[in-house]
Amino acid sequence: MMNENEKIDVMAIGAHPDDVEITCGGTLFKLSNMGYKIAIVDLTKGEMGSRGNVSIRTKEAECARKTLGAKVRINLELSDSFLENERETKAKVVKTLRRYRPRLLFLPHRKQRHPDHRKTSEIVYDSCHLSGLEEYRTGSLKPFRPHKIIYCTSFLAVEPSIIIDISDSMEGKLNAVRCYKSQFEPIDGEMVVYPPAFDMEDYILTDARYYGYKASVKYGEPFYIPEPILIENPLLMKVPSI
Ligand SMILES: [Zn+2]
Repeated sequence: MMNENEKIDVMAIGAHPDDVEITCGGTLFKLSNMGYKIAIVDLTKGEMGSRGNVSIRTKEAECARKTLGAKVRINLELSDSFLENERETKAKVVKTLRRYRPRLLFLPHRKQRHPDHRKTSEIVYDSCHLSGLEEYRTGSLKPFRPHKIIYCTSFLAVEPSIIIDISDSMEGKLNAVRCYKSQFEPIDGEMVVYPPAFDMEDYILTDARYYGYKASVKYGEPFYIPEPILIENPLLMKVPSI
């Protein structure tokens, strides 16, 4: 049976601990400060990562959860680098959706360099569909679909359809990313994940400043929504045309 205390408003799902912080951490920080209940779901523990190890990454993920103000962080313990859109994987995701019942879901956009990120997007979207089916049984957990899915497009060559103003949440986002010392602290002579060898903080600030500039604010996070965006009053649109 669903426990009302567990219900959350916003769920952000990533393949590896730190994905969510990098792609929508500013927005999560902002929403948690607005009073919304946030859950972060990592599909894997990132055990195939060349830096750190599972025990370190688990502690770092908990540090980031606290920093962002998320109520809960769940790890589905699927296989890093071997995510597959198959029955048992979707069953785990459906149970998580049905248990926490988020109205809003943040997912990676499907255009991705890392196959796990692409698979996460597909697996969770398909699980959302499955989760709404009455005939798909998960014990006492009732059918459920999130109202809205928003795809994160940070660092991707994808034109965003919305930009969320994170000017007041930039420091919160950076503090969450700073928890992942094993992933982002430079090590002399080691290959960089994001060439050229800018540090991660610089990379995040540049991306957020670029999208912030496009939206006439200091810092922004970009997202894609396939559906049209309904606007009540076009006179209140903020970004100037000329
Ligand atoms: Zn990742």
